[in-house]
Amino acid sequence: MTLDKKFTQDVIQQIKDFKIEDAVEEVGTVSYVGDGIAFSSGLDKAMYGEMVEFDDGTIGMVQNLEEDQVGIIIFGSYHQIHEGDLIRRLNRTMEVPVGTQLLGRVVDALGRPIDDKGPINNEKFRPIEIEAPGIMERESVNEPLQTGIKAIDSLVPIGRGQRELIIGDRKTGKTALAIDTILNQKDQDVICFYVAIGQKESTVKNIVQTLQNHDALKYSVVMTASASKPAPLLFVAPYAATAMAEEFMYQGKDVLIIYDDLSKQAAAYREMSLLLKRPPGREAYPGDIFYLHSRLLERSAKLSKELGGGSITSLPIVETQAGDISAYIPTNVISITDGQIFLQSDLFFSGVRPAINAGLSVSRVGGAAQLKAMKQVSGTLRLDLASYRELEAFTSFGSDIDEMTARQLRRGRKIVEILKQPLHRPLRAGVQIITFYALGHGFFDDIPLNLISKYEQQLTEFLSINYSQILKDLESNRPLPTELELHNILDKFTTNFNLTYQPELASGSDH
Ligand code: ATP
Ligand code: MG
Repeated sequence: MTLDKKFTQDVIQQIKDFKIEDAVEEVGTVSYVGDGIAFSSGLDKAMYGEMVEFDDGTIGMVQNLEEDQVGIIIFGSYHQIHEGDLIRRLNRTMEVPVGTQLLGRVVDALGRPIDDKGPINNEKFRPIEIEAPGIMERESVNEPLQTGIKAIDSLVPIGRGQRELIIGDRKTGKTALAIDTILNQKDQDVICFYVAIGQKESTVKNIVQTLQNHDALKYSVVMTASASKPAPLLFVAPYAATAMAEEFMYQGKDVLIIYDDLSKQAAAYREMSLLLKRPPGREAYPGDIFYLHSRLLERSAKLSKELGGGSITSLPIVETQAGDISAYIPTNVISITDGQIFLQSDLFFSGVRPAINAGLSVSRVGGAAQLKAMKQVSGTLRLDLASYRELEAFTSFGSDIDEMTARQLRRGRKIVEILKQPLHRPLRAGVQIITFYALGHGFFDDIPLNLISKYEQQLTEFLSINYSQILKDLESNRPLPTELELHNILDKFTTNFNLTYQPELASGSDH
């Protein structure tokens, strides 16, 4: 009797709560679930990219639209979802939280916090996929994005709004380059996103710690979809982070975004697509794999002045197998980006770090944005380096070499040594410029290889203490000071240095 009464009350309550929207709300039923995807019948009006919600609150996104069913990718655990469960349309496209509240935070692919700093109280959301800015809304790249890495800023300069690929085998320092670039954005008014796709959780934790230690987390957002997460989260992470970045770009700010890495995203997409029964193509990737990356990277842009002049610079990372840059995903991404930085294992293991192969690395648009003075001092660097690599291969057969060749070799070795850079020690542009000037004008000629890093270190200190105005001028795109002035500065420094390091200099043999 009481049960009946309760039942009646419930029914009455439901009638009272009834809203007209509920009647038109579309609800489907799970017909299959497994491996991070589900098929549903009854969602006839669902659209591609639309958000849906399962009974337990788990979010999904509509992917396949078929005649009698739709394919859905599930963002999160799927073990609690069963055949026969209901799925509700949320009547909006997939979106993520955006805004300054995200700065300093670590979030998952849907923008939910996974650090222990509490909820993110944002008010705004943006769809994860929007159309990239068109040609009329853009401006060509014209302002440098200083990485603080000598070999990049001098040889393959990057401009704000550019897409520059970092490519190389496993463990060649790809992530390190990207993180050091973030560290160098301190006080540069650049907001940074690091998107970890398919990385180990411990690696990401270390990266967050590094950013924290260098006071770089406060202007950064870390998004992670780690290797242990279902494929849909790895697939969606770069788009979600880009939506967050776009919020800043359209406010006129400069943003740097790292996708680490797109090979793992492609593999996740392949897995997801095979499960959704899409036909596999080359290397078993689905036919639209190129579009996966092009529609992402097209969203990096330098906006026109009318639109506020903001920018998104992207550094996508791609892993190669045995240095093969002609494999499917590498060639795709190379063709979509404005250049690539190619890292090579044998250089890395021989101690040339960062292991940038200058011959295979290129920046197609960044030259227009390079600082004037940097352009002046780095002009012949690439050629000198290339001819050194050639000579080196040739003379390794151990024949007699003439004085001219010997000098070129010595110079090459010096360049290689100067371009080496320890981890997490980005160098400000002003110091880089004066270092390259010193190299070009013979100031390194009498410094043995083993003292070069010391020379650089001391020069950096000397310039920062005594000539900070010159450094600032150079960094705000002034041309080089006069030869007289520069030689005065460098002579003064060298005299001091020689006095301090006299014994080592005397025993140095390889200059
Ligand atoms: P993975 O394929 O695992 O993603 P990766 O190519 O991203 O590797 P990193 O993780 O950046 O490579 O670097 C590999 C190792 O080399 C790390 O231990 C890092 O500390 C070290 N390393 C990278 N760059 C330098 C450098 N410039 N100087 C010294 N050590 C470096
Ligand atoms: Mg890495």
